Amino acid sequence: MSKQIASIRGMNDWYGQESAVLDYIVSTAESVLNQYSYQSIRLPIVEKTELFKRSIGEVTDIVEKEMYTFEDRNGDSLTLRPEGTAGCVRAIIQNGLSHNQIQKLYYTGPMFRHERPQKGRYRQFNQFGVEVFGLADADIDAELIMLTARLWEKLGLDNLELQINSLGSAEARQAYRVILVAYLTEHKSSLDEDSLRRLDSNPLRILDTKNPALKEIVEGAPKLIDHLDEESLMHFNLLKSYLDDAGIAYVVNSNLVRGLDYYNKTVFEWVTTELGAQGTVCAGGRYDGLVEQIGGKPVPASGFAMGLERLMSLLIDKSLVEANKMANIFMVMVGESALRPGMVIAEQMRDSFSGLKVQMNCGGGSFKSQFKKADKSGADIALVLAEDEVANQQVTIKYLRVDKPQEVVSWAALHDKVAEIFNPKLDL
Ligand code: ATP
Ligand code: MG
Repeated sequence: MSKQIASIRGMNDWYGQESAVLDYIVSTAESVLNQYSYQSIRLPIVEKTELFKRSIGEVTDIVEKEMYTFEDRNGDSLTLRPEGTAGCVRAIIQNGLSHNQIQKLYYTGPMFRHERPQKGRYRQFNQFGVEVFGLADADIDAELIMLTARLWEKLGLDNLELQINSLGSAEARQAYRVILVAYLTEHKSSLDEDSLRRLDSNPLRILDTKNPALKEIVEGAPKLIDHLDEESLMHFNLLKSYLDDAGIAYVVNSNLVRGLDYYNKTVFEWVTTELGAQGTVCAGGRYDGLVEQIGGKPVPASGFAMGLERLMSLLIDKSLVEANKMANIFMVMVGESALRPGMVIAEQMRDSFSGLKVQMNCGGGSFKSQFKKADKSGADIALVLAEDEVANQQVTIKYLRVDKPQEVVSWAALHDKVAEIFNPKLDL
């Protein structure tokens, strides 16, 4: 045997239940987004390195140390996307989608960051992202939060905490920065290496530190929320009142500054305490300056991204996906004479019921071995066809999960019988 080749550290194969749950989250999110009239956009996984440097910011964790950057065969510097917003902004500018129009978009796919792999933190991970262009008011920020709340409800997740904050205008942040740096400089001797480095380059990020030793200093720092400009404060108050009206609970976390440079005004995160330091499952905010920064005409914008693997872990740990299982049939077909009508019946079932899963036994085998497979498949019932059934144009129905005697029905009556068995699950 030749030597095996392993995958790259932090880049996973998801299969079985995990893959099914990832698909389920995406399809549920898509249906919620469609309810709010958002449209899908598909974007490249690789972009010019320059795009991320200019949008995410040179002094951020992502650009400083997490990007997968390489030279292609032409000698151009390219980067595997670490997040989706930059590419989305590039696309709307390039395709003329931002001028005098509103865009409400969503996308999903893999992102790449060279981080230290651990549960909920990978080097290739999937995000579901939503971006809105052309709307400046707090109403759309509230809508973005409302639709995430609806998604959690659909997924059965009920203990996520919503944290919100306002980063104000660029000018307000600039003024606050001076005050913050003065305060942090007073405590310089207690800062860690990372924070000392950020003191000049990106002091607001120190507030976001995960180092518990800095907790006291950070908590005692002057608060950005107390130094907001009038307009941002009004915007923030409106957002809060819309959330109140919608019955969505939140906490104002004045240290929430987000890891990327491009945010202003609203920022928010949905956090769980169940995934340790990887507790943020969804994060976003407003980024009114970014479109112009990347070369477009100024257009206000707001958006967020969810980490699909983190949501997957939550759903699997809580066994929240079983409840959404599809109605499920396994076709047991013994003998060559049963196979041909059986295949036709399986197709007819799929024609009639789009919400029904119909699995055929393929590859023959005895009754016993086929029933073993039926049981393992998770099917609710087995439809059995053997010589007798075929001769009489009937099928035998065996209940695999409930204690109920088997039944024999004619092929003509099968449709109604299946509808009856799975009502109301099939939602006819
Ligand atoms: P964190 O503070 O956890 O590093 P972040 O602020 O870097 O998160 P964002 O850039 O806002 O994350 O990405 C949005 C979401 O994508 C996160 O809230 C998280 O759910 C998910 N995410 C980010 N990085 C990773 C990763 N390396 N592995 C898995 N999921 C991730
Ligand atoms: Mg990060």
